Amino acid sequence: MSELTITLPDGSTKSVPRATTVGEIAASISPRLAQAAYAGMVNDRVVDLTFPLQEDSKVRILTNKDPEALTVYRHSTAHLLAAAVTQLFPKVQCGIGPPTDEGFFYDFVVEKPFVPEDLEAIEKRMKDIAAGDYVYERQLWPRDEAIRFFRDRGEPLKVQLIEEKTEGQKDVSVYTIKDRDLFVDFCVGPHVPASGRLKAFKLLNTSNAYWKGDARNQPMQRIYGTAFFSDKELQAYLTQIEEAKKRDHRKVGRELGLFLFHPWAAGSTFWLGKGTTLYNLLANYMRGILFPSGYVEVKTPLVFNKALWETSGHWSHYRANMFLIEHHDEDGKANAEAEQLALKAMNCPGHMLLFASEVRSYRDLPLRFHEQTPLHRNEVSGTLSGLTRVRQLSQDDAHCFVAQDQIAEEVVRLLGLVQRVYADFGLQFEAKLATRPPEFLGEAATWDSAEAQLKAALEKAAQPYTLNEGDGAFYGPKIDFDVTDAIGRKWQCATIQLDYQMPARFGLKYIGADNAEHLPVVIHRAIFGSFERFIAILIEHYAGAFPLWLAPIQAIVLPIADRHVTYAQSVRQQLADAGFRAQVDERQEKIGYKIREAQLQKVPYMLVVGDKEAAEGTVALRSRVGGDLGSRALDAFIASARGEVETKGSQARQEVL
Ligand SMILES: [Zn+2]
Ligand SMILES: [Zn+2]
Repeated sequence: MSELTITLPDGSTKSVPRATTVGEIAASISPRLAQAAYAGMVNDRVVDLTFPLQEDSKVRILTNKDPEALTVYRHSTAHLLAAAVTQLFPKVQCGIGPPTDEGFFYDFVVEKPFVPEDLEAIEKRMKDIAAGDYVYERQLWPRDEAIRFFRDRGEPLKVQLIEEKTEGQKDVSVYTIKDRDLFVDFCVGPHVPASGRLKAFKLLNTSNAYWKGDARNQPMQRIYGTAFFSDKELQAYLTQIEEAKKRDHRKVGRELGLFLFHPWAAGSTFWLGKGTTLYNLLANYMRGILFPSGYVEVKTPLVFNKALWETSGHWSHYRANMFLIEHHDEDGKANAEAEQLALKAMNCPGHMLLFASEVRSYRDLPLRFHEQTPLHRNEVSGTLSGLTRVRQLSQDDAHCFVAQDQIAEEVVRLLGLVQRVYADFGLQFEAKLATRPPEFLGEAATWDSAEAQLKAALEKAAQPYTLNEGDGAFYGPKIDFDVTDAIGRKWQCATIQLDYQMPARFGLKYIGADNAEHLPVVIHRAIFGSFERFIAILIEHYAGAFPLWLAPIQAIVLPIADRHVTYAQSVRQQLADAGFRAQVDERQEKIGYKIREAQLQKVPYMLVVGDKEAAEGTVALRSRVGGDLGSRALDAFIASARGEVETKGSQARQEVL
C-alpha cells in the first residue's frame, strides 16, 4: 500500500503517497502555510520540513504561533553562530549548541577568550550567512566516515560525541549549511529549512564553560545569544533585559542598603536595617491577613532528630538537600553513636507532630498552622544567586488540615487570599492546576474527588486557570501560581498543594461526626513562597521604588542649613509619633545634593525645611515621582500620607504602571 493517511490538527484526514514530506503537506494545505512553516510535528515528534512520512501519522505544521518552532529556530541560529565562528576563527573546536528558554548558546574551544569586538564580527558574519538563504540539509553519513571526517578536521569533541551517542548505528545524522565547506555539524536536528528564515537574532555575552559542564574537563568559551521570529519581538526582549539589569535585586539591594552576603555564610542573607524593616513589614502584613482568616501562628524547632525525617520520607528522598549535624567528642572525633540531627528544610513534618499532639475532632477542622521560622536547604554553592537561590530562607508557610469534603471550601478561601495579596502588590498572576501524574500514591477515586473539588473551587473563586494534566506531585494534585512583574517577567510564587501521604505517614486522625476515625488531608500552601525570593521579585518589580506602605524610609526631612536641624528633628518626631518611618539628613551638604541622594535612595517623600517652614510650622514637600509639591502644613501631609498607606493596593498599581 503506497498511500498513507495523515490526520491534521482539525481532525481532517488526507491521503498522500508514501514519502511525502511535511513541507509538501504544508504546501498542499496552502502556499501561505508552506511559507510560514518552520518545521513539523509528526506524532508528537518535531521534525524537519523535509521529513518524509513513512506511515499513517498525525501531522501539525509549526509556524511562529508554536513554541516548538521557536525552539527549532533558536537551535538553528546556534548552528548559524557556529558557522560564523568556524569561518572567522578556523582553529576553534565546536562543542554543543542547544536552544534555551531565553535563546541559545554554543560552546567553543578557543585559543583566547572572545572579546566584544569578536561578537560584533561574528554577528555580522551570521547576518551574511542568513542573507545567503542557504539550505540546512540533513545528510546521513556512514559512522566511520563521520568519525574520520571530524577527526581529520581537528574536532576531537565531535568525535567523542559521535562515539558516545551513536554506538551501534550504521549511519549518523549531520547537517550542513549550504555544503560541508561552509558548515557541517553532527546533529539529529531538526532545523529550519534555510538560513534565510533566521531574521532576528543578537549575540549577548560570553562566559567560561567546560566540556560537558564539568570543571575537570576542557575549558571552553560559551557565546550566548537570543533569537526571535521578528525584529519587533527581539527589540522588546532586549529592552526587557536592559530594564532587568537596571532592576537586578542584587544591584538595587546594594544601592539601597537592604542586605548583603558574605562568603563565610554563603547563601544566607545579612538583612541590614532597611532590609530588615522591609522583611518585617511583609511578615506582619501576612500575619495581619492570616490571623483574621483563622490561622494560628506557631514556632517549631529548627533542629530535629532524624526519626522525624524518616517518618516524613525526607530522609530517603531529600537528605542530600539537608544540613545534617555531626556530633564530635572532646577529642574532635565524630561520634557515630550520638543522636542524629538535621536542620529543618520544611515545616510540614513539625506541623504533623503538632496536629498529632491532641485528640482532634471534626469540629477542630479546618485547623491551620502558620509558621515563618527559618528553613535551611543545602543548595550547591554554584547555584546560589542573590535572594532567589539561598540556603537559609523563611516562608509564609501554612498547613491547613481539612476533612476530604472541606477541600473545595478551603481552597476557595485560599484563592481569595492569593487574589487579595497579589492585588496589594500590583502583581498580575495566573493559576495552573496540575492533576494526577502517571505514578501516584493512594486511590484513584480519592484523587478524582480532590481534583473535582479543586476545579470547583477555581470556578467558584472566578479564578481562570490552565490545566497541566498529569503534572501533580505523586502525593496529591496542586495549584501553582505565576506572577508577572512590571516588566513582563513571570515568577512562580504561590502554591496550594494537597497531600494525603504525609498525614498517613504520621498516622494522623480525627474523630468524625460518625464517631469513627478519619484521615485528614493536609493542604501545604504559601502565597509569597519564601520571603527572600518574594523580596527579590518586589525589588525588581518596583525597581527599588517601594510604594509608601512598604518603603523602609517613608519620608526624609532635609534641613536647608544647620539652624533648621532642630525644627527638622521636631518634624521627624511628629512623623514618628504618627507611625511613619522618617529620618533627618543632618549632613552639612547643599540641599540640592541631599535631594538627589534621597531621590537615589528612592525615598517616597522629601520634606525640605528652612526659615519660612520653621516659622510657619510647614514643610516644602517633594515626592519621588512628582518633584516639588509646594508648601504643606505638616498635619495635612500626615493625613494624605496615611490615606496613601491605607490604599496600598491601588497605590502599588499606580506606581508601577
Ligand atoms: Zn542542530
Ligand atoms: Zn508543607
